[in-house]
Amino acid sequence: MKKLGCLVPLVIPVVILFMLVVGVIIAVTGSNGTTGSGSSGEVEGEYTFNAMNQAVERYRIYFEKYANENGIGEYVDILMAMTMQETGGRLADVMQSSESLGLPVNTITDPEESIKQGVSYFANVLEQADGKIKLALQAYNMGNGFIDYAKKHNNGEYSRALAFEFGEVMASRLGWSNYGDENYVDHVMRFLDKKEAVVSGNGQWSLPLKNIRINSEFGPRRHPVTGELNKFHGGLDFGCTPADSIMSVANGEVVEAVHSNIGYGNYVTVKHGSNEYSRYAHMSSISVSNGDVVNQGETLGKCGTTGTSTGTHLHLEHITQLGQPHNEKSNPRNILGLEAK
Ligand SMILES: [Zn+2]
Repeated sequence: MKKLGCLVPLVIPVVILFMLVVGVIIAVTGSNGTTGSGSSGEVEGEYTFNAMNQAVERYRIYFEKYANENGIGEYVDILMAMTMQETGGRLADVMQSSESLGLPVNTITDPEESIKQGVSYFANVLEQADGKIKLALQAYNMGNGFIDYAKKHNNGEYSRALAFEFGEVMASRLGWSNYGDENYVDHVMRFLDKKEAVVSGNGQWSLPLKNIRINSEFGPRRHPVTGELNKFHGGLDFGCTPADSIMSVANGEVVEAVHSNIGYGNYVTVKHGSNEYSRYAHMSSISVSNGDVVNQGETLGKCGTTGTSTGTHLHLEHITQLGQPHNEKSNPRNILGLEAK
């Protein structure tokens, strides 16, 4: 859980007052709240050492949306790892971002609102940290006073020792037994190790983009927009930018080049054999027409976010028959030769 940082000096007195009130409540009820001391110990045993779980994964579309809005689109995985550390996706204030607004802990009741605020706050500290990711992460937890402290005492660099030192300084200044999570960077990073993107493929199909970053896996999931449970995701999602060209994964013939603003948005389907098709969805523009013969690697159009999508990505499908239901499609990872996660 994030501890109170010194975001805005004016906020502190209000926050301290609140802490006192909460302290009394904790003393009375005997429960260990989310404020005060011991949060890192509390978090420690709580999560399994897995990659992003569905509780956080289901919000990916919001992370993409607000990361892009704040110009930090490449930090989606880090933001999601932070959320794993903050709440594991199990509280409405998923990023524990109410404190960055100077509000008491857990006062944001809408996950999208929490992500919107958390991402914006992170973009802010990242900028103050001159793009240094570890420094920014620790500041997300301890407040941006940590950045000033690092600039003053450690040439603007993060170190764990510095986080401990700053924690002690702040704890003694505020009269708390503990301030923040001094191991926050490591705690977040452990969720990232497992989420490293697969880069190279050696399958029958070539890769549809120059840089491969998988955003969402093929298979059952909770639909990020409708919230519907067990909606089957019939393709593999790749992160990309509107400047990225989408390339045909194999030789074939374009059998669908559809302009639409619902569902797949603008999409292209290429037939590679009697029982093999690739489909590319949410494109911003299409540069081929129905009936075109295309070569492997040939550009089909550009990445986009048309149709049911809130962030620029490529949704790629491996279909064996046109019109087949999502759950009968194949996982594109196999034919692309990308290792299963
Ligand atoms: Zn998709």
